[in-house]
Amino acid sequence: MVRVRFAPSPTGLLHIGNARMAIFNWLFAKRHNGVFILRIEDTDATRSDKKYMDRLIEDLHWLGLTWQEGPDVDGQYGPYLQSERSHIYRDFCQKFLKEDIVYRCYCTPEELEERRRIARLTGRPPRYDNRCRELTDKQKKAFETSGLSFTIRFKVPDEVVIFDDLIRGACQFDMSLIGDFVIIRSDGTPSFHFAVAVDDTLMNITHIIRGEDHLSNTPCHIVLFNALKRKPPQFAHLSLTMGADRTLLSKRHGAFSISEYHKSGYLPEALLNYMMLLGWAPKNKKEKFTVEDIINTFEIRDMSKASSVFDQQKLDWLSGQYIREADPERITNMSIPYLQSVGFISTDENKIDRTKLKLIVDTVRTNMSCVSQVVQEVDIFFKDAVVSEKHVEFLSSEISQSVLLSFSAKLSKLDTLSSEVFKEVLTAVQKETKINGKGLYMPIRIALTGRERGPELYCIVNILGVHTCRKRIERFLLVKSRQLFSSESTQKTI
Ligand code: GLU
Repeated sequence: MVRVRFAPSPTGLLHIGNARMAIFNWLFAKRHNGVFILRIEDTDATRSDKKYMDRLIEDLHWLGLTWQEGPDVDGQYGPYLQSERSHIYRDFCQKFLKEDIVYRCYCTPEELEERRRIARLTGRPPRYDNRCRELTDKQKKAFETSGLSFTIRFKVPDEVVIFDDLIRGACQFDMSLIGDFVIIRSDGTPSFHFAVAVDDTLMNITHIIRGEDHLSNTPCHIVLFNALKRKPPQFAHLSLTMGADRTLLSKRHGAFSISEYHKSGYLPEALLNYMMLLGWAPKNKKEKFTVEDIINTFEIRDMSKASSVFDQQKLDWLSGQYIREADPERITNMSIPYLQSVGFISTDENKIDRTKLKLIVDTVRTNMSCVSQVVQEVDIFFKDAVVSEKHVEFLSSEISQSVLLSFSAKLSKLDTLSSEVFKEVLTAVQKETKINGKGLYMPIRIALTGRERGPELYCIVNILGVHTCRKRIERFLLVKSRQLFSSESTQKTI
């Protein structure tokens, strides 16, 4: 039975890079009908925070990931919070002490730093020189009675560790280059290496899928697995995700945390789809797919060895596709809080004209890559246009004025203005003024919306209704002062 785990440290918000590791573990478990485990690596009490763990769980769930074992669901190999497993690490450390494969090290942080500095100066690797491994009984006694604090170090065997990484192929490390590493810190907490190896052993993890930044940790974990008398799991080190400048992806590259994408109104399935494209592609090269579409063909071995590059524009493009194809009701519901926050719609849900709102959102959603953009997209329906200098000039021209005049005269005879009626009115204006194409519709579009582009005019007028259209057109008729054009716009709620 395949058993994989995502093992984040709750020291900050979940980002694209981390979430991607969770996704590929989850996908691998799904592909092999295995178990996906969430383990929280919170042994560093100063940096770990419960609020980040809660956010992380929320973000992973939002993305659609579920796990069979974890801090919030439990399971037979718990607890799944490392901070609650101290007794387990302590017991294994005792066992290792008895087996004489670990030892107490009394070197102080200052001494270690000084030795590292000298090693660097003399061109030697700044590894621990294993000096406390060789303490005589007399020295040990002296240290013990001195009350000095100590760490516990693992006696790294002098051997070459070889393993076959599922993505990177054969990897080998000469352990003589690695000094004895700490398994228990001076405050009694386990080191990252020790906690990972103990937990992966006890939790029966079969595959460790993690970032290639952990590749150099793997030999340390393998020697610990050997000491724990456990066949090491299989490893797959995923390449990392970079920004366009080839440095490790960060906020600087415009990538948000998962919760920020959530807040901005990205659809989780779009974000999930995009993250699966980082370092992997389905055989049919299709870019838009669901997990179900790929689950039977996903092979971890097909993942790229090269780093992937995060591309916000591509994410926006993909996300736009999802928004266009989503259920209109869903996008409308998602839009409500954004529109309420700017006062476009009432905060009292009962007062919202949902039919009209749905029509509006449906008209503009083709232009959105995340739902929060609804605010900019719909403002033409709630505010009178603020017209630029350039457009003022355009609307003042004789041609524009004759179009606007004819159009408003026709509107004054109407009680309602559906898309069909509008098309008839436009034909009539065209006949009367002999003005066609852009010359005909652009003055109307700009007078109604203040923009040269946007949703189809017949959709716009249908939403605005005859009264608002007339009012907006008349703002630009018989104008004597240019200032009037850019006068204050008014805003109303539906
Ligand atoms: N806590 C480690 C991290 O967040 C996980 C390492 C691992 O997957 O073994 O990078």
